[in-house]
Amino acid sequence: MLKDEKAVVVFSGGQDSTTCLFWAKEQFAEVVAVTFDYNQRHITEIECAKNITKELGIKHHILDMSLLNQLAPNALTRDDIAVKEGENGELPSTFVPGRNLLFMSFAGVLASQIGAKHIITGVCETDFSGYPDCRDIFVKSLNVTLNLSMDEQFVIHTPLMWLNKAETWKLADELGAFDFVREKTLTCYNGIVADGCGECPACKLRKKGLDDYLEERKGL
Ligand code: ZN
Repeated sequence: MLKDEKAVVVFSGGQDSTTCLFWAKEQFAEVVAVTFDYNQRHITEIECAKNITKELGIKHHILDMSLLNQLAPNALTRDDIAVKEGENGELPSTFVPGRNLLFMSFAGVLASQIGAKHIITGVCETDFSGYPDCRDIFVKSLNVTLNLSMDEQFVIHTPLMWLNKAETWKLADELGAFDFVREKTLTCYNGIVADGCGECPACKLRKKGLDDYLEERKGL
């Protein structure tokens, strides 16, 4: 049904967006990836994203979003701000105010320029760290706003929205991408590819999901 259509994947080089890239390749005739450079702590993230798209033969746009870092310094962009999980209902120090709003809006501008109707993002409400801009209601609201702002009929897809991390590994496996995602993606806040540092919140979440999924797979 969608095989003749074009899609833009918001792509960071992490587990989630790489799984989305494989998902999109199955769904759409043409897939384009867009990565936002906001002076992330680790340039490895951009390098990782470049390598993955190159290997998969996917056209890759890297857009400069250093403005975001200028406006909202946070633990992902500054070495002197520690990565801290949110406590007592506070947002974690890795939260970047407005990030997904801006990224999705620019992805919409790109989609409009290249004639793509579909936008894919790996945001997820299930395991989310308390980020308000990963919620389903936010994405649906933004979809309406983008369509109104550009007089377009975009469809934002969130294939991971209701999956936990184990289910995201399962999806990658079903897409034939389990090893690729495990070995080539970067999730770690300390910039270590694949299984990462094992210590930061992102690594812990990724590992728990992986262990749960491997346990489940053994039982099949
Ligand atoms: Zn880590």
